[in-house]
Amino acid sequence: GPLAPKTDSAEEAGTPPELAGVSAGAGEGSAVLLRRKRVLAELSPLERFRLRYLCVTDVCGQAWCELQVVYGFELPHVPKREEESPKVKAGASIHLARELEVHDVVSVSTQSREDRWALKILNMLSMLPILQAGGRVRELPVFGMLEGVFLVGVIDELHYSHKGELVLSELKTRGLRYLSGRAQERSHHFQVRLYKLLFDSMVRGLLERDAFVQSLNLRPEQPLGPGVMEHAQKLGLHVHTFGGVLELALMTLSYSELPAIDVLKIEYCHQGTSDAIGTREVSFDEAGVRAELRNHLSYWIGQREPRGVDIEEAWKCRSCSFEEHCEWRRERAENATASNQTKRFK
Ligand code: SF4
Repeated sequence: GPLAPKTDSAEEAGTPPELAGVSAGAGEGSAVLLRRKRVLAELSPLERFRLRYLCVTDVCGQAWCELQVVYGFELPHVPKREEESPKVKAGASIHLARELEVHDVVSVSTQSREDRWALKILNMLSMLPILQAGGRVRELPVFGMLEGVFLVGVIDELHYSHKGELVLSELKTRGLRYLSGRAQERSHHFQVRLYKLLFDSMVRGLLERDAFVQSLNLRPEQPLGPGVMEHAQKLGLHVHTFGGVLELALMTLSYSELPAIDVLKIEYCHQGTSDAIGTREVSFDEAGVRAELRNHLSYWIGQREPRGVDIEEAWKCRSCSFEEHCEWRRERAENATASNQTKRFK
């Protein structure tokens, strides 16, 4: 499939609509500044960071450390430790090699946000017939509204088992030759469970046109650029606007009769050699997954402050890019010193 564009959820950064007209120009006095501060405090993190949707990987990152995800948006200039390491690059090349096994990766030029979303949708559309014919697909885009927030993700692989079950398989590369620890596992399990919720609601025809267009603020009448138009034609699809692509996708999904995902699996493999280390099957309980999701989303919709890691998981901070900036960590260190001093006085 064509290369999916990078996340553009925050691409329209600028003054949030709620702040329009609340400019604090020279000589306008402190009342305006105060009002501006108050408005900022009242904005939810989704509004403050100008996010129209969340990536599944961000929400799962919260299961590791919520504050780390928040700092990723607040301090984008701080280099990410893991992303820069050769280990992660090795992981990315294993993913690409696997994708190339089942289909070609082509590059398509895009000219607008609508073009980029149309490409994601076309990508998904091109894989549905393969799945329907019992084939294997990799890097399948999934999206939809869950618990009031639009979520976007990419499923590593879907295939059918010998028993005919639809299996989701998520590939995780590891630097070490053993399976992940419990903390990492929690976040991986949540990730595949969210993919199942998204995929299942798509094939049940629950993806709604208005939710899509309004959450992402896309113009249905926007004509497709030449690159995306040509790509659609190669797929045998005659569409001219973004809205046309979306309508086609919604119709195809509701008539597809594809099954829901039966089995969730995580496959761990070694980064250096790409040898398999082991596979874990993940259970699914919809009510539980939705409750966990609501808990994570309550931060994004402004119902609570973000949380850092618990004291028992302070080891996570040692590999965190924001270690030196983190207030949570600093406060915890100060509290620890204060309680040590109290002990000494006793
Ligand atoms: Fe989270 Fe620790 Fe990083 Fe702070 S330093 S963001 S608490 S992992």
